[in-house]
Amino acid sequence: MQILQTFFRYKMVMKTLRIAIQKSGRLSEKSLELLKEAGISLNNGSRKLRSVAQSFPLEVIYLRDDDIPQYVEDGVAHIGIVGENVYAEKECDVDLLERLGFSRCRLSIAIPKSEPYRGLEEMQGKRIATSYPVILGKYLSEHGIRAEVHVLSGSVELAPSIGIADAIFDIVSSGSTLISNGLKEVETVMRSEAVIIANRRIGKEEAGLLEQLLFRIRSVMAASNNKYILLNAPNERLQEIIRVIPGMKSPTVMPLAEEGWSSVHSVLSEKRFWEVIDRLKELGAQGILVIPIEKMIV
Ligand code: ATP
Ligand code: MG
Repeated sequence: MQILQTFFRYKMVMKTLRIAIQKSGRLSEKSLELLKEAGISLNNGSRKLRSVAQSFPLEVIYLRDDDIPQYVEDGVAHIGIVGENVYAEKECDVDLLERLGFSRCRLSIAIPKSEPYRGLEEMQGKRIATSYPVILGKYLSEHGIRAEVHVLSGSVELAPSIGIADAIFDIVSSGSTLISNGLKEVETVMRSEAVIIANRRIGKEEAGLLEQLLFRIRSVMAASNNKYILLNAPNERLQEIIRVIPGMKSPTVMPLAEEGWSSVHSVLSEKRFWEVIDRLKELGAQGILVIPIEKMIV
């Protein structure tokens, strides 16, 4: 009886963090993958409306990406993963907690390929079709441009060819959709990537869970942005080599069996990768091995 009471009391105070992710679309797979890499396995398929994690007090709800900011503002979900473009467009009262580095794209103005373009002034009095009227409207008014904004919910890139707009404002990633519709990109208004947004009034227990989850996510992201590097260094250049790859605290240096050489182990940022490798070769480093890191606790 005592055990049962303790159990129910425990159940009552046990809180669950609720996260909203896109049901099906460009963000879905990467969002689920991120949770998986953070050690969170879900007990049913992603195509349900909700699922519950097994190893972490987390519940996932699957929604259209447009609806996520409002659900997070209302507290239906404590946090959500959306494109920064959707976060900016919806202007909801939520916090942007973390940029996640995937689903990178930009929002740009494009016009028919054959039209001349000398600058944003060109947009004065034009009809621009978009699914992002808020972001576009702000940009135009900041630059003193008065244009007619036509809101379309999809297939925006067709608008000029069917004669309902002179220009479009839409998501671009490789630019191939624009090209195949006879358009050219003329102004980049915003860059976007997936972000975590959060409700501003999260309870104490949920905030604790959120901290744990963010810690895991940051470790996953740090690992994917860094590589483990091992190399053999001639002792006379050791200090210079150490300066090039300082690592997290300082590199591990061990003597090789061969006199005059050391083995150096360190961590290297992906961004500086090629520049550093070239420098290490110049300094006489040999046998350079670069290994992926699975998790990085910083
Ligand atoms: P939903 O049905 O959930 O409303 P959607 O059609 O509005 O989905 P998607 O096309 O799945 O949205 O795109 C989701 C997000 O992915 C966009 O808001 C944007 O942040 C990002 N995104 C869109 N297109 C690309 C692209 N070509 N490359 C990279 N990221 C993109
Ligand atoms: Mg959408």
